[in-house]
Amino acid sequence: MRQHKLALCKDHYLEWVPEQVERFIKKYEMFTREEKILVAVSGGKDSLALWDILTRLGYQADGMYIGLGIDGGIGYSDESHRLTEEFARKHNLKLHVVDMAQEYGLPIPVLAEVSHRGKGKPCAVCGLAKRHEMNRIARDLGYDVLVTGHNLDDEAAVLFGNTLIWEGEYLLRQGPVLPARDGLARKVKPLCRFYEREMAAYSIARGIEYIYEECPFAEGSQSIYYKELLNQLETARPGAKLTFYLRFLEARKNGNLFVEKSAAAAHLHACPKCGQPTSTDDFCSFCRLIEKTTVSAGGLPGERGN
Ligand code: SF4
Repeated sequence: MRQHKLALCKDHYLEWVPEQVERFIKKYEMFTREEKILVAVSGGKDSLALWDILTRLGYQADGMYIGLGIDGGIGYSDESHRLTEEFARKHNLKLHVVDMAQEYGLPIPVLAEVSHRGKGKPCAVCGLAKRHEMNRIARDLGYDVLVTGHNLDDEAAVLFGNTLIWEGEYLLRQGPVLPARDGLARKVKPLCRFYEREMAAYSIARGIEYIYEECPFAEGSQSIYYKELLNQLETARPGAKLTFYLRFLEARKNGNLFVEKSAAAAHLHACPKCGQPTSTDDFCSFCRLIEKTTVSAGGLPGERGN
C-alpha cells in the first residue's frame, strides 16, 4: 500500500482492515454495538467484505439484497443473489431479500424501458429504486442505520464528478455519515477510506466468494471514466485519491466549501402513497415512476396497495 507506505502479510492484513474499519466507525460516530444495522449487500466484494468485517467486530448487522432482475447474458442478478444467500447461510446471518419483479412486477430494465428514462441505461431508475427500497426496509423493520459498501474509489469518483460542475447540494451531502432526517434513515459508509483494490485483496485473502463481473450496464458509465482518470493520477502520485477525499471532508467540516448551504435544507414531507420522505409536492419520485410505468404498460402484475 504505497499510499500508506505499508506492506503487510496476509494474516496481518486480515487484522489491519477490521481495525481500521473500527477506527473509522468511531472517528465518524457511525453507530454503536447497541444499534441495529442493515447492510445493503449486492454480492460484490465491497458489501460482502463489509458484512464480514462488521460481524467479526461484533456488530448486530443483518443484510439486505435487492433483486434487480438484470441478466445481461451472464445471469448477473441470479448469480449475485446466489452468492449473497450462500454467504449468509455459511455465516448464519439474517438476510432480507426484495425482488423488484415480485414486489412491483417490474425488473429494473423493464421499469427503465417502460418509463422512458435514462436514454437506454437503467442506472438512474435503478439508483432511485435502490434508495427507495433500502430506506423502506430500514424504516419498516426498525433498523437504526443503513450501511453501504462504498469504497474510496467510489467516493472519489462521485466527488470528482460533482466538483467538475460545482454541484453544491451534492457536495454538501457527501460524506461518511448522512444523518437521519424527516423519515430518511441514517446512512453510513465504513469503507469510504479504503481503496477498491484493498477491499478486493481483503475478500480474496478472507476467501469470500463474490461476483467478479460488473453489472452489464456499468460499461461506459461516467463513474467508471472518472475512476480511470483518478487511477492515472494515483499511479503518478500515490495517495492522491485519498488526499483528494480527506481534504474535501476537512474543508466541508470547517465550512470552507464555496457552495450555498441553503440548497441542502430542502423541506421533506411524507409521500401520500408510500409514506417515504420526499421534497416534491405530490407523490415521491419512486411512486410516480411505478404509477406511470404501470399505466403505460396497461397494468402490470404485482402492484402494491400502499
Ligand atoms: Fe443499477 Fe446501473 Fe449499477 Fe447496474 S450499473 S447496478 S443498472 S446503477
